[in-house]
Amino acid sequence: MSAGSLTLTILGSGTSTGVPVLGCRCAVCRSGDAENRRTRCSALLQWSGRNVLIDTATDFRQQALREGIERVDAVLFSHTHADHVHGIDDLRTFTLRGHAIPVYGSAAAMATIRQVFAYIFTDDAEPGFRPRLQLHEVAAPFSLFGQNVTPIPLIHGAGESYGYRVGALAYLTDCSAIPESSLALLGGLEVLVIDALRFSAHASHFNVAGAVAAARRIGARRTLLTHLSHEVDHHRHAADLPGGMEFAFDGLCLDVPCPG
Ligand SMILES: [Zn+2]
Ligand SMILES: [Zn+2]
Ligand SMILES: [Zn+2]
Repeated sequence: MSAGSLTLTILGSGTSTGVPVLGCRCAVCRSGDAENRRTRCSALLQWSGRNVLIDTATDFRQQALREGIERVDAVLFSHTHADHVHGIDDLRTFTLRGHAIPVYGSAAAMATIRQVFAYIFTDDAEPGFRPRLQLHEVAAPFSLFGQNVTPIPLIHGAGESYGYRVGALAYLTDCSAIPESSLALLGGLEVLVIDALRFSAHASHFNVAGAVAAARRIGARRTLLTHLSHEVDHHRHAADLPGGMEFAFDGLCLDVPCPG
């Protein structure tokens, strides 16, 4: 990573089931292509020598082993659907060796994490049995390790989620629409990562056509479609995407220019 840039690694590019889907015998689930093997949706951002996770996906432990992640300095939570948070207990290994990890998200997301993972926030548990986390509710840009991090409110079916922008990168998982006020926060992007689930319509996710339309409005130089289901055959369907747009895959890593 050069000075003035951040590194994005796609830890997981899959929808909530992962791909292959358990018990499914479709062509994509039986595919030998590495790009068609998708763990649950998550990303690692690195800048100034820090590792910042977006979500602790169900597969976080395997993702951390695969990518050689040796420390976690902060977590940005998009929302609290199971596929995005159920790896949270594996932060324990990192906090045993170091400091409590600051965790950021909407007030609703922080309240749900406190409630669903109550054992983490009680004083009676042995320290080794719970990760040490500091919850921070955010609703406006905040400074993290020398960069501005901007929460991007998104519509996720009947619910809400946060995307995040850092420098010229925006990561928008789990969304079915983007409010105008959030589009206004997405000008001048080099890289956009956006939820594209599958080709058929879905009530709480963009499908590929919807994600492509949203990405055209946003106009990033390069767009990665993520949170993909087994409808998407990486190599077969890649040729159908417009220029500048591609399917994300697990392990994809790129540098993004970043102020400072
Ligand atoms: Zn999801
Ligand atoms: Zn399948
Ligand atoms: Zn979701």
